[in-house]
Amino acid sequence: MLQKIEELRGQIRDRLTAVKSSDELKEFFTKYLGSKGAVSDLMKELGKLDKSERPAAGKLINDFKNEMMEDFKRVEADVANRERAAKYEREAVDITMPAEMREPGALHPVTMVFNQLADIFAGMGFTVYEGTEIEDDYHNFTALNTPQDHPARDKQDTFYITEDLLLRTQTSGGQIHCMETMEPPFKVIMPGRVFRCDDDATHSPMFHQMEGFVIDKNVSLSDLHGLLDKLAKAMFSPDTKTRFRPSFFPFTEPSVEVDISCCECGGKGCRLCKGTGWIEILGAGVVNRNVIRNCGLDPDEWTGLAFGAGLDRIAMLKYGVNNIHILFDGDKRALEQFRK
Ligand SMILES: [Zn+2]
Repeated sequence: MLQKIEELRGQIRDRLTAVKSSDELKEFFTKYLGSKGAVSDLMKELGKLDKSERPAAGKLINDFKNEMMEDFKRVEADVANRERAAKYEREAVDITMPAEMREPGALHPVTMVFNQLADIFAGMGFTVYEGTEIEDDYHNFTALNTPQDHPARDKQDTFYITEDLLLRTQTSGGQIHCMETMEPPFKVIMPGRVFRCDDDATHSPMFHQMEGFVIDKNVSLSDLHGLLDKLAKAMFSPDTKTRFRPSFFPFTEPSVEVDISCCECGGKGCRLCKGTGWIEILGAGVVNRNVIRNCGLDPDEWTGLAFGAGLDRIAMLKYGVNNIHILFDGDKRALEQFRK
């Protein structure tokens, strides 16, 4: 037995010094020290011994096993240290190396314009209502007092999805949704994308509108003027002037086009304002009594104001962009110039 132990001790120590990795260590353990390893096998030999010799031999084997376990643990700790050091070495980061530059993104000019407008209107107590881009004929046209034969309903102007569903051509449909779902009085702005079959330097098939809508008692055209004058001054400059010109929209009566004094020349006349000193920025009006009635409110009790502005047009004016496609082509060189 002693001889066998000595033999195995020599073998184990040789193999243990040769172990290089934790995988090899595991293999070694199974082969020699595990429950089916060579050291446990020694225990089986006990049966072959004379009964009187068994206790001493058993102790011998146990001591041997403990001794080998200690050797094993020492090597195990060594291997773990070595492997950790190697890992640190491998994953070392040179913090003096120049970093890869990441360019910060920037807000799109239309987003900047909307954010500014939202700020201005929030200050006047408006909330934001976001409608859906797919609208039905009723909300986009009928409820807005647009007759069946109105040219805006033409398939040449409107993207129809089905007979009844279409991509909204204006955010005004939001007015109807608001009147259907909100308790008056209320003041909302409704920003969003709208779609029309139209494409040239100043028109894009997709563009952005923002609708403003007020339902309250005794509001009038002069309230509208005050509101829009405040808007123009906040949006462009404190000395911007506004003027109303009579116009026509099916859903407002009276309807007006709103001009601001030219932001380029201040009203003296230049190329931007085509020498007139004025630039048209939005359409507005007092909500037509029919529209209010269509939504189940009493037009003798409730009055309304509505205005719709093209966010892209305002962005173009504000940032001096002369082609609407520059806003939507996604050309970084163009968009970078708006970064603040
Ligand atoms: Zn001008």
